[in-house]
Amino acid sequence: MIKPAEFIHPEDAAALRQLESIPGFPALVKKVLALGFEKLKYGFNMATAIRLSPTQLPHLYNHLPPICEKLGIEEPEFYLQMDPVPNAWTFGDTKIFITITSGLVEVLDDEELDAVIAHECGHILCRHVLYHSIAQYILAGADTLGILGSLTVPVQYAILYWSRKSELSCDRCASITTSPDAVARVMARLAGGPKSITENLNMQEWAGQADQYDHIKNDGLWNKTLQLAITLGQSHPFSAVRVREILKWGQSQQYVSLMQNLNAEASGKRCPECSLPVSTDWAYCKNCGTKL
Ligand SMILES: [Zn+2]
Ligand SMILES: [Zn+2]
Repeated sequence: MIKPAEFIHPEDAAALRQLESIPGFPALVKKVLALGFEKLKYGFNMATAIRLSPTQLPHLYNHLPPICEKLGIEEPEFYLQMDPVPNAWTFGDTKIFITITSGLVEVLDDEELDAVIAHECGHILCRHVLYHSIAQYILAGADTLGILGSLTVPVQYAILYWSRKSELSCDRCASITTSPDAVARVMARLAGGPKSITENLNMQEWAGQADQYDHIKNDGLWNKTLQLAITLGQSHPFSAVRVREILKWGQSQQYVSLMQNLNAEASGKRCPECSLPVSTDWAYCKNCGTKL
């Protein structure tokens, strides 16, 4: 069982606080729900995508249950959609579902697919899905229900800003069930193409592009404005930035001790003194110092 507080990215936490402090925001969220937007999208998905199950393409479905178990979340519905563009998303509030595209399955190996599914499950664990669904609606740009009229442009930007930052937390969640390397490899496939092309990518060099991007972005007001305009329509942070952030997190003390604790929990062994979980390779209990 993993708690969001153990891995949430600080920029996500800050953006969420800002978003929830916008006057009228909770009322707006309720309004969106009341319009039946969720049901609309759920129904569309049900009619057009293939629902995966133990008896429907089990080699794909079987990725999901162990991840949900590890994260301690209820299993969402899981769908496959024919679309050559590699993509995955989570949607809904009362009925949450994850959809992956055929293009995604084609471009990723098993561990990379696990990373994407764990990323999506991270959105569920962190309770991002409702606000995310609204962000997707804004990005779709087709406001046939007219709900965005009540949502001023700056508020739309605030939602999209938070939505992008929340992706960084979910990359971290993915790295907990797989590894930071696996998450970085997913980024490589999505940015540069299949394994046959991106297998030997120099990750550090690529992550360095994020620093170069920061230089360009921060070089004078004109560039900042220009970059801001480019970022506004993006659903996710740029891939080089995500790679840099996940590799950095993989080196952090927070990640190392979180993984130690999870491994200790998985070992099933407990300290005879403080009865907290301990790992089989510990000489001393990390919680109370008792010799094991
Ligand atoms: Zn995401
Ligand atoms: Zn102990």
